[in-house]
Amino acid sequence: MSQHDQNNEGRRRFLKVAAGTVAAAAVVGVVPRMALAADLPHLATSDPTAAALKYVEDAGTSTDPKHKAGDTCANCNFYQGKAGDAFGPCQLFPGKAVAAKGWCVSHAAKAV
Ligand code: SF4
Repeated sequence: MSQHDQNNEGRRRFLKVAAGTVAAAAVVGVVPRMALAADLPHLATSDPTAAALKYVEDAGTSTDPKHKAGDTCANCNFYQGKAGDAFGPCQLFPGKAVAAKGWCVSHAAKAV
């Protein structure tokens, strides 16, 4: 599967899961902006979208068969944190910071 296909697959999966969440946020007018990473609350694994995407704060604890050894948020295309930061923004979870060592099923290897 090409990088492009992987990214699209991740996006499609996310959009399916998150459609309800985003719509609800838009209705109440609280779609958060991408703020400074330090200001962002950490994404909780109990968050409905995070749970649906099998997000874990430590990729090593994931039991999901889709998890490949070495895949973490830090090397995911959707991750926007700075190298060395423990947490950073993720395009799939606006307004939240995900763990650099974390992982979810929408992981798409960063293009190099
Ligand atoms: S950065 Fe992490 S939470 Fe965000 S899509 Fe990638 S693996 Fe999932």
